[in-house]
Amino acid sequence: MSVHDLRSWTHDRHRTVDDTPYGGGPGMVMKPEPWGEALDAVAPPTAEATPRLVVPTPSGRPFTQAMAAEYAARPWLVFACGRYEGIDRRVYDEAATRMPVDEVSLGDFVLAGGEVAVLVMIEAISRLVPGVLGNRESVTDDSFAPGAMESLLEGPVYTKPPVWRERAVPDVLLSGHHGAIARWRRDEALRRTAAHRPELLARLDPAALDKHDRKV
Ligand code: SAM
Repeated sequence: MSVHDLRSWTHDRHRTVDDTPYGGGPGMVMKPEPWGEALDAVAPPTAEATPRLVVPTPSGRPFTQAMAAEYAARPWLVFACGRYEGIDRRVYDEAATRMPVDEVSLGDFVLAGGEVAVLVMIEAISRLVPGVLGNRESVTDDSFAPGAMESLLEGPVYTKPPVWRERAVPDVLLSGHHGAIARWRRDEALRRTAAHRPELLARLDPAALDKHDRKV
């Protein structure tokens, strides 16, 4: 992984990367020239590979676990971190003539810059790259994991000791009965999803719900 300083592609004494917005209004906009030169240098499509440009922005598509999995399978990702009011639109449009460009939001809030958003994405993506995590199965049990957890939040987890401050671990988890444990985990995931993110339940495929699921 390489990190680049956009100011390396400026040519004035102040290494300027921003200017006032056309049409007026508060704040500054990132200039197209340094971004254009930076992307030419850092993300030149080659005969062997085309990079995917990912631009964090609150006006993008929401970042999801499915996107993290898709990115984890890509050979070459380039992230363009904005500041101020964002990057001149022409940078996106020109880059899109040479490579796929994804505008991605971390959520319905506004950060000061794209760097932290990209760190979050890189962490979510890299833990899905084979070999990064010690136990691959921990990924398949996670909230949002493709398969049984696709639109579900993971329920509570426990470790030793079996009793702590008079609070006992649920008996079923100590039972050694794998079927009952799997059922309990699914019930808890359904309950937690209903409590915290009821809109996710609507995305569950009704055909994938068994009789017991419907009771929860
Ligand atoms: N004027 C922009 C708007 O209202 O959509 C907000 C710009 S924000 C102050 C500066 C930069 O922070 C953005 O260009 C983007 O890189 C990053 N950023 C802020 N909020 C973000 C979010 N929710 N998701 C991803 N990136 C974000």
